[in-house]
Amino acid sequence: MLDLLRARAVLGAPGVRFPDGDLTLPPRFRGRPVATGTRELPVLDLGACLFSPEEALELEERGGHFSGDHRLAATTREALTISQTGADPVRPLADAMRRLFGRSLRLRSVAAGSCGGCEAELVALGNVVFDLARFGVEFVASPRHADGLIVTGAVSRNMRDALLRTYEAVGEPKLVIAVGACAASGGPFRGSPEVLDGVPSEIPVDLWIAGCPPHPFTVLDGLLRMLGRLDLRAPAGAAPKEAMAR
Ligand code: SF4
Repeated sequence: MLDLLRARAVLGAPGVRFPDGDLTLPPRFRGRPVATGTRELPVLDLGACLFSPEEALELEERGGHFSGDHRLAATTREALTISQTGADPVRPLADAMRRLFGRSLRLRSVAAGSCGGCEAELVALGNVVFDLARFGVEFVASPRHADGLIVTGAVSRNMRDALLRTYEAVGEPKLVIAVGACAASGGPFRGSPEVLDGVPSEIPVDLWIAGCPPHPFTVLDGLLRMLGRLDLRAPAGAAPKEAMAR
């Protein structure tokens, strides 16, 4: 134990400070679309966007480009559609829910017909760089132990009942977070007769997170904004209103 503590003292905290650390992502990362120069940003549905090179070219032709801003979450599905005048799309939870979940949130992950990319990013949230647990957010194995679901995938017809039963197994009050283009719109599988094009309407979603897949910072940002732990007006990488872990 002493050896571990000594090693920790020597190595320091390996995790990235969030959100006031260096959140610069690689140049090829495609984040929140912005207008180019004085041109007007075209209306764009982030929930259906795959952030692909083809979409980057199309966006350039329409007067915008993908920036390095990782913030791509919204409280409502409609708010994932952005335009020049878009307000901050994530509303913090109501006070009662924040008191319950603001410092301790346990989530059951349900892969409802995904390619695995979104789950890989969710798994990355547990590594030493992102260290999701320092914010009191953890994944649990059983919906009975969870405060909510985090859903990935386009929701295949075969997974519909399993998803609904898992949702029903979570006690009230509960939260649902839809992660990735598939969960919001079907993503690249949109229109296939085998999928429902995202989380079905029977399941109320509290937070939509865009991306294909979303970067772990994108997920972290959406979760913390929903929990009311980030200043909604703070630009990415800026000091938050409330001090965060580490
Ligand atoms: S959104 Fe993209 S990465 Fe995530 S499950 Fe769908 S295809 Fe895979």
